[in-house]
Amino acid sequence: MLRFAQDDNDAAPAIEFMTDHLYYHDSFLYEFDAEVAGVSDSPPAIVLDRTAFYPTSGGQVFDTGWIVAGESKVRVREVAEKEDGTILHLLESAGDIRQGRRVRGVIDIDRRRDHMQQHSGQHVLSAAFLRLFNLPTVSFHMGVEACSIDLDTKTLTQEQVTAAENPANDVVMQNRPVAMRFVSQEEAQGLGLRKLPPAERDLLRLIEIPEFDLSACGGTHVGTTGQIGCILLRKIERVRQGWRVEFVCGKRAINAARRDYATLAEAAGLCSSHLWELPQQVRKLQEEARTTRKSAEHLLEEIAALYANQLLQATPESNGRKIVIQIFSDRGVTFTKSLAQKLTGLGPNVVAMLGTTAEQPTLVFAQSSGQPFDMGKLMKEVLARVGGRGGGSKDLAQGGPATVKGIEAVVDEAAADMCRHLS
Ligand SMILES: [Zn+2]
Repeated sequence: MLRFAQDDNDAAPAIEFMTDHLYYHDSFLYEFDAEVAGVSDSPPAIVLDRTAFYPTSGGQVFDTGWIVAGESKVRVREVAEKEDGTILHLLESAGDIRQGRRVRGVIDIDRRRDHMQQHSGQHVLSAAFLRLFNLPTVSFHMGVEACSIDLDTKTLTQEQVTAAENPANDVVMQNRPVAMRFVSQEEAQGLGLRKLPPAERDLLRLIEIPEFDLSACGGTHVGTTGQIGCILLRKIERVRQGWRVEFVCGKRAINAARRDYATLAEAAGLCSSHLWELPQQVRKLQEEARTTRKSAEHLLEEIAALYANQLLQATPESNGRKIVIQIFSDRGVTFTKSLAQKLTGLGPNVVAMLGTTAEQPTLVFAQSSGQPFDMGKLMKEVLARVGGRGGGSKDLAQGGPATVKGIEAVVDEAAADMCRHLS
């Protein structure tokens, strides 16, 4: 998106012309005739003597549409306003559009209508928060999916949100007129505007919803509040300057509700439950998963204990100690660690050199306390040969080998070395 700061006009084509802003007077003007006042090739852009294309400003994003010149129809991809009031229409290509040529501007109606619904909806919503809870709006953002206002407040409750949403929708359904007029700065002082803009222009454009809201705004608005369709409040979140309220109006609200319904219906179908029972179902599934996990952990411990006994019995004693070496391909890390602990806990003379080559290859070396080896050092030695990271204490060490190829032979050899050094 192009932005023009006072000192940074580098991105802007060097065309200047005070454009006649047609959208100030008629939000429903979707087609208009104009003369090309300037052309730029890089980036392709034109300035017209008059335009109904709305440039990004005041929280509302730009219109798109087409410029028709004779047989050619060029897409307007962005519209931006410079500090001096020049409105640039950035085109997909300038084609054969030249200065002085008569052209026809065609606004993308769906996009404009959507913007009018969101922006007028925002005025109603901001007025509702101010009237009900004295919470002023400090900024408005129109996104591709949703819009948001930031309220100047330290706290905002879900009850307040619902309380504002209701009367805001009442105003929509009452189909009140939305009027526009220009007044001088002086006149504006005594009118009780929701927010008085900084005094930089002689004339202020006011948007009024009788007996509900009066604010200075340059945006395109609906003719009557009924055209907003509806105002749907969604997420609220704490932000630096207060609380952010996300909302969608009109067709966006319908699309959002449709998408939410489809998502909920799919989830409910997976749980074979009704939509409204979904949270309860999810809580139940979470509880079941927790119980299953606990029971699996418990069973694994029991199996490890049984297996440790079996393994120890099958291991012959040598020099007064039993060295158990085993690499699993079908057991996980939890089981391998548990088995090492069980083995070394079964007697004072056990050394366990275990490993798993399953999805997360791991080595676990352990010895009964009092045994003379150093498992941490042994782990480092093995990992020095196969790569990987790990370490530990004298009695227990764990590591992740970089490769599991030939790991059994490496561990066997390390065990033999270890015993040789001792004797
Ligand atoms: Zn506005």
